Amino acid sequence: AAFSELGLGEWAIQTCKELGMRKPTPVQTHCIPKILAGRDVLGIAQTGSGKTAAFALPILHRLAEDPYGVFALVITPTRELAFQLAEQFRALGSCLHLRCSVVVGGMDMITQAKALVSRPHVVVATPGRVKVLLEENPDIPKVFQRTKFLVLDEADRVLDAGFEEELRVVFQCLPKNRQTLLFSATMTGDLQTLLELSANKAYFYEA
Ligand code: AMP
Repeated sequence: AAFSELGLGEWAIQTCKELGMRKPTPVQTHCIPKILAGRDVLGIAQTGSGKTAAFALPILHRLAEDPYGVFALVITPTRELAFQLAEQFRALGSCLHLRCSVVVGGMDMITQAKALVSRPHVVVATPGRVKVLLEENPDIPKVFQRTKFLVLDEADRVLDAGFEEELRVVFQCLPKNRQTLLFSATMTGDLQTLLELSANKAYFYEA
């Protein structure tokens, strides 16, 4: 397949070319059309498979059509991964003037709360810090009232690390009609349970 066959906008195809992404990887070929079609997706794919662009490109495509508020919340297990994800979102979304905030532990919470209230398009967060912000600052839940996409990146690690309570708080603050995208290196029973909670008809991809 080619990037031009997946349903993405011309600007996205051009951006991929500029970033040296010549053709889509398997996880991108399979997941991008399903995400654009509005499906929830569980993708089992390793780091290095191109999974970040597999969810970032369709999210950015939809954002380009109708930008508002915090469009996507991406949860990832570590600070380092959060910064890497934000970097990929910024690179892929550069021509959209994408505003992306990182919300992780060990950094000033007041600055992070201010960044959230200014409604970036994409928020990349670790579970612990986003939970604290949602619970302790009454302005923050409102920020996520119309969020379209929830992504759990490295979902197996998020669940292994015992973040169920944090995820419960996050899930409660997001609208029911959002799309949920789960990406994981391994398939686990917890992921199966999460997928079954999905309101949309889910699509399962395994490399
Ligand atoms: P990820 O699996 O998301 O961690 O991506 C691994 C690396 O592959 C990142 O540095 C991406 O920039 C790069 N990448 C993603 N998609 C493609 C593609 N279609 N062609 C070439 N490189 C890619």
